[in-house]
Amino acid sequence: MKYYLFGNWKCNPVSAQEAKKLISDTAKSVKRTEKVEVAVFPPFCYLYEVVGKKKEVAVGAQNCCFKEAGAFTGEVSPRQIADLECKYVLIGHSERRKIFSETDSFVNDKTKLALACGLVPVVCVGETDEERTAGRAVEIVTGQIEAGLKDVDAKQVLVAYEPVWAIGTGKACGLAEAREISRMIKEALGSETPVLYGGSANAKNGAVYLKEAGYDGLLVGGASLKADEFAKMFEEIEGLD
Ligand code: PEP
Repeated sequence: MKYYLFGNWKCNPVSAQEAKKLISDTAKSVKRTEKVEVAVFPPFCYLYEVVGKKKEVAVGAQNCCFKEAGAFTGEVSPRQIADLECKYVLIGHSERRKIFSETDSFVNDKTKLALACGLVPVVCVGETDEERTAGRAVEIVTGQIEAGLKDVDAKQVLVAYEPVWAIGTGKACGLAEAREISRMIKEALGSETPVLYGGSANAKNGAVYLKEAGYDGLLVGGASLKADEFAKMFEEIEGLD
């Protein structure tokens, strides 16, 4: 069984000095093994600092442009990200969908281009609080998967299920609800697509999603900014059967 522990630094930290310290502390306490693939997703401006540590930790970007190059001010293309020797790219994180109005069709374009550029896309899906309360979680995630991965070979991507209401709130998803979604995603895409859980995962609750809810790994936000907490999550996952 292969597991994944991915850290999304979001728009943190605020200086290169802190980013260097975070990557060096993280790289000291985790390693990529046959069993656990560890990756971090720093802001674009620190990718150079971090790719040097890629023996211990794989590196990904948090977003990419839907085009390879050209007049797209402020964007970074998957070709450029791949040229930096990054391995992964997050696509369709709920903060991109909500704050930057990214649609499933945009997610689909970016996923296809990222693959063509040699990156491994980590496609993020998840329902809002309102959608879950209305009993629409499965329907919403199914729709995001169908549209976001249209004409994509699902074996070449990872999917991260991140219920929007669980991200950064301290309210992690219940195991039964999480299990229902991992099962649905695997039924839709096949067992070869790794499915990660994300949303207030930490050293106490993280490995339980892998043990008891059918997930292959974790996409971790806040806890990945604390190297010691991230290291504990690594140890927990390394210790799984
Ligand atoms: C995320 O941003 O992808 C995330 C899961 O954040 P957090 O772990 O802080 O909820």
